[in-house]
Amino acid sequence: MWLYVGLLLVVYFVFHKVFRRSSPSVNPFSGDTRRPPQPLVTDPEARKRLIHKGFTADKVPENLDAIVIGSGIGGLSVAAILAKAGKRVLVLEQHDQAGGCCHTFIKKGFEFDVGIHYIGELYERSFLRTLVDQITDGQLQWAKMDDVFDNVILGDQQTQRIYQVCGGNQNYRNCLKTQFPQETEAIDKFLELVKMISKKISLLVIIKMVPLLLARFLIRSGIIHWISSIFKLASTPLSDVVNKLTENKDLRAVMCYICGDYGVMPKEASFVMHATIIQHYQNGAWYPKGGASEIAFHIIPVIKKSGGDVLMRAPVQCILINKDGQACGVTVKKGKEEINLFAPVVISDAGIFNTYERLLPHELRSKPAIQAQLSMIRHGMGGFSVFIGLDGSKEELGLKAGNYWFYRENNFDELFSKYFALSKEDVAEGCPFMFVSFPSAKDPAWDERFAGKSNMVIVTLAQYEWFEEWKDERVKKRGEDYENFKMDIARRLLDRVTEYFPQLKDRIEYIRVGTPLSHEFYIASSHGEIYGANHDVSRFAPEAIASLRAKTPVKNLYLTGQDIFSCGFTGAIHGGVICASRVLHRNLYNDIKNLKKKMKKANEKKES
Ligand SMILES: Cc1cc2nc3c(=O)[nH]c(=O)nc-3n(C[C@H](O)[C@H](O)[C@H](O)COP(=O)(O)OP(=O)(O)OC[C@H]3O[C@@H](n4cnc5c(N)ncnc54)[C@H](O)[C@@H]3O)c2cc1C
Repeated sequence: MWLYVGLLLVVYFVFHKVFRRSSPSVNPFSGDTRRPPQPLVTDPEARKRLIHKGFTADKVPENLDAIVIGSGIGGLSVAAILAKAGKRVLVLEQHDQAGGCCHTFIKKGFEFDVGIHYIGELYERSFLRTLVDQITDGQLQWAKMDDVFDNVILGDQQTQRIYQVCGGNQNYRNCLKTQFPQETEAIDKFLELVKMISKKISLLVIIKMVPLLLARFLIRSGIIHWISSIFKLASTPLSDVVNKLTENKDLRAVMCYICGDYGVMPKEASFVMHATIIQHYQNGAWYPKGGASEIAFHIIPVIKKSGGDVLMRAPVQCILINKDGQACGVTVKKGKEEINLFAPVVISDAGIFNTYERLLPHELRSKPAIQAQLSMIRHGMGGFSVFIGLDGSKEELGLKAGNYWFYRENNFDELFSKYFALSKEDVAEGCPFMFVSFPSAKDPAWDERFAGKSNMVIVTLAQYEWFEEWKDERVKKRGEDYENFKMDIARRLLDRVTEYFPQLKDRIEYIRVGTPLSHEFYIASSHGEIYGANHDVSRFAPEAIASLRAKTPVKNLYLTGQDIFSCGFTGAIHGGVICASRVLHRNLYNDIKNLKKKMKKANEKKES
């Protein structure tokens, strides 16, 4: 007992020592910076000036405090937090638009999201909402989706069973119990485990933030398991937990369906990762008003306010290292020219594989500490998306603000194992699962921009190897075989969708298909990954949790985004907070919580 108390005191002391320097940095969350939201900006030129601003050497601000590689939410959030602490930050993006997975594109009069379909925990005054409000000065607006935010469809057209997943803590539980009245005990136990994990999840953040030596001592001595059972559950496969709770195969499937949100089959998924996502959506789901490009559109002004900027068409070729072995800048390719830019801090949102295997000079890649980190993770699955433009408004087409998950059978371990093992020739017929959503039905500002039209997105997983033979061809010029191959898969997926939504069959105006090669091109994801490094149990082993952190073995080089904590808008933004905490030597989690309290008090005063 005393040993335990003593150890907690040591952790507490070290934590404060790391995050409190003798001259503390500015608190980026010292005051509430929200302004009343301004009307949606629809003028394409005004939007272009911010989210498409191209890189040229003369646009680079002087005396930079930090350079961020990549403008995904992991990169933009860390840049905005540093900017709020008075730092001048330059974000460099290889694509022609800011946002990474949060960017959108417009084709033939339809707008499509690349990687944001729903986000949880955005109710007023939640931690996430407070953070997002502050890094957008309160300009980003959110629309709540329908109470039934996910529908799970098991089986084919003849055998299909449809289950609904509802938002609202008690509602979520009751909704499941109504559909599985014989299984109330299993549902309660499942949700108890989820709740326990949500209460202890901060331990996973802390272990990434304390000095690595201390984290390793706690892990290798086994003390970590005295502190909490969460570390054991992190290494426990989802299937092991769920299969013990119930024999009902449909309920098992409904407990597991959301594994599609991080792309790992239940027997390989970490129960903690899964529980975190279940908890994330328990109060329902939200969608950005005006579409996902609003995210970058409202964060960039906050970065600019401190003299920084976000510049596109700026592919970083390598990270510059000074004679002392410390990161000191980057090289950007502009046409045939290579331009060196310098800053005392370099942060990468480009993903751990890109950063270590492509951007670091050769001699540093082989550093044992870097190789050790890489050996703990592997590439995640690739993504396959079908973007469909529909003729008709949401009312005309009867579209809802919810998502649809189609699984051909209820044994997901078998389903995914068979699918992932398919040869390229069998893929088109074999794709047994997909996620379907209608962003236009979720966005209250859609009609203002695209009246009389709707959009639909289908997403599934795909092996990079199925498309690898075309990887060296130029984008949009990969030839007929490639076009036919991807269209074949898309058509089979669409057949199932139009069986379910027959009213859409004759309303399809536009189809565009993205493969792992598109991910590689547009968001520079290594190996066409859909959610970054794989989220399997090995990534959640205590040693891996502690090692995947913002501070890298190269001095002044930091990592942010989905490979630090987890994928998802929220996972990647936590990567940003962890990274900014490290750079500023502050515990920003405390700063945000304190601001939340202040705002609550101010609100109570106003209301009284
Ligand atoms: C199809 C799909 C659907 C999804 N749906 C959801 C959802 O509904 N809800 C949710 O919460 N999450 C969803 N996600 C996941 C979520 O979008 C991501 O996990 C998150 O946005 C990742 O953010 P990030 O900043 O870590 O990385 P990214 O968004 O990938 O950003 C990395 C950026 O770095 C840039 N970059 C890379 N290398 C270089 C270089 N050398 N030089 C310059 N720039 C470089 C890339 O171009 C990219 O813009 C989805 C993802 C996908 C792909």
